Amino acid sequence: RAKAAGRNAIRFYHPEMQRSVDARLELEKALRRALEQGDLELHYQPQHCAAGRLAGAEALLRWPHSQRDFVPPNAFIPVAEESGLILPLGRWVLETACRQISRWHREGLLAGIDHIAVNISPRQFHQPGFVAEVEAVLAASGAPPQKLMLELTEGILIEDVTDTIAKMEALRKAGVRFSIDDFGTGYSSLLYLKRLPLDELKIDRSFVSDLETDSNDRAIVETILAMARHLKLAVVAEGVETEFQRDFLQRHGCRFYQGWFYGKPLPAAEFRAHLRRRLSA
Ligand code: C2E
Ligand code: MG
Ligand code: MG
Ligand code: MG
Repeated sequence: RAKAAGRNAIRFYHPEMQRSVDARLELEKALRRALEQGDLELHYQPQHCAAGRLAGAEALLRWPHSQRDFVPPNAFIPVAEESGLILPLGRWVLETACRQISRWHREGLLAGIDHIAVNISPRQFHQPGFVAEVEAVLAASGAPPQKLMLELTEGILIEDVTDTIAKMEALRKAGVRFSIDDFGTGYSSLLYLKRLPLDELKIDRSFVSDLETDSNDRAIVETILAMARHLKLAVVAEGVETEFQRDFLQRHGCRFYQGWFYGKPLPAAEFRAHLRRRLSA
């Protein structure tokens, strides 16, 4: 059988495949090096209220590869997820965000700020020590847990629902809140939505981008907002780029807005300046 499998492997072998395996290994090695050498950065994309007030931010991982450019997370997060590198990487993201939250909090810059959101990957969430890890990072950094929002994707939520709920409830007891990222793009059973201890939904950018031209998207977004209102969940709209999108979302009761219309992700120092300007204005 081994021989047959070997022959099949050779029969199906294609140089493209080898190249892509090599490319993934190269990418993984370079990413590991970047993590170890401190080359990674977290940027913060502002989230605003309907009235325009700065309300929070989402921390987004940045891997600079030249003076002006970075490797897009969608190109390396899946590789990190598959190789397991996401565990030390995700921990670094959490530690860095919590240290930052703690510093801004001590400087009095988070008054009136609802939350700073951190993306959590499936493998990171499903590791047995996840709750203890988040608690340890919060304690070590001194960040107030009430300012931390963890973004989970729908895929995380449907896997082992009992364990997922237990983890979410343990962390919510500590004050941490939870958001569903990219809402509407995954397998979203309303039954889970009802059972899970959630605080927030993020409407995926794919529903927001064509609001002006696509009446189906308008119907979907209206429905999500109405449902969230009934379930008492806050809603963040992702990828808000135009006034039309903002107005439509506002008319239907969206609470938070994130997108280029308000601002691109900023390096920590620039986001801090943003936090300060708000207080002196
Ligand atoms: P996401 O969590 O859904 O993040 C939102 C993405 O939309 C970000 O892309 C952001 O830069 C982009 N975006 C925000 N506003 C606009 C807009 O108005 N127009 C357009 N065209 N794009 C906008 P980014 O930074 O490339 O990240 C992509 C994905 O990579 C994230 O999607 C998230 O799933 C993942 N990711 C990023 N940082 C982390 C991290 O620290 N940990 C984990 N596990 N995943 C991360
Ligand atoms: Mg996110
Ligand atoms: Mg998202
Ligand atoms: Mg998205």
